Amino acid sequence: MRVVRQTDKSRSRRHMAVRAALAVLAGAAIVSGCVQDGPEVRPAPGQQAPLKAPPARALDRYAGRLSADLAARAAAAKEWGLKSVPLRPPPPPVRKPDIVTREGFEVDGHAEQGLPPVFTTVPTEHRIVFLTIDDGAEKDPAFLRMMKELRIPYSAFLSDYLVNEDYGYFKRMRDHGVALNNHTLTHPYLPALSYEDQRTEICGMQDVIEKRYGKRPALFRPPFGNYDQDTLHAAKECGVKYVPLWSEEVFVDHWEYREWDQDLHPGDIVLSHFRGPEDWQGTMPDMIRRFLDKVTAQGYAVARLEDYL
Ligand SMILES: [Zn+2]
Repeated sequence: MRVVRQTDKSRSRRHMAVRAALAVLAGAAIVSGCVQDGPEVRPAPGQQAPLKAPPARALDRYAGRLSADLAARAAAAKEWGLKSVPLRPPPPPVRKPDIVTREGFEVDGHAEQGLPPVFTTVPTEHRIVFLTIDDGAEKDPAFLRMMKELRIPYSAFLSDYLVNEDYGYFKRMRDHGVALNNHTLTHPYLPALSYEDQRTEICGMQDVIEKRYGKRPALFRPPFGNYDQDTLHAAKECGVKYVPLWSEEVFVDHWEYREWDQDLHPGDIVLSHFRGPEDWQGTMPDMIRRFLDKVTAQGYAVARLEDYL
């Protein structure tokens, strides 16, 4: 009797201690989910809502999910040869940031005519970057598996002349939650084309993506990042809302930077390409390793671009 009672007591004491620790852990997770490593935001005195303790059982389940999630991500990071486990991004913002055209990237009448904004960074205080991958030449199944297992979000900007070799590959990508966006039908230098031809390139790709994948993209990226006033007019007519360019480009063996400080910044859009050993000295997973190792080492998480637009 005594032994059983003692065991029960010590077990219940242990349970209480574990729950107290979990309550602290859950609080910390919520705080870090909001603020992460960015500048600390303190509520005004007296404005902080009292923390409600969730029921113990729910807290146990929550902690269980947290540790299972961390274990799965740690195992995936090890399997794919990353130097450290990628950081988790904060939850999508409740209020989306105002996206405006970057200074020096405007065309005549840009704002007055409501043309889609052209930008290279999303305004945010969170230490996050966005990964965008262009064209569609390399269709490596290992890349799809890697991104799914690591749970790294990214956005694809597709050109039909490459995608049409295997529409099914990008359907699998879409089924993993990746947004498929517009990068024209044939990847031309758009400013050399007439308005009508630009419209055909952009609207034509909108039609392909809608027909094959069920959704008309809101995002369009002009090939080589080159555009003129006609490009943005045509894009608007085709239903495009945003024209994201990029701040950095990651290759299999190096990074390139747009800014003078040669560094990452909160909200930066990073460009890469679907390329394989025929195009550069490595595979898609090699490129992703280079991308994630730097991003994680500098305290950044990878967030989903569409969540911020
Ligand atoms: Zn391209």
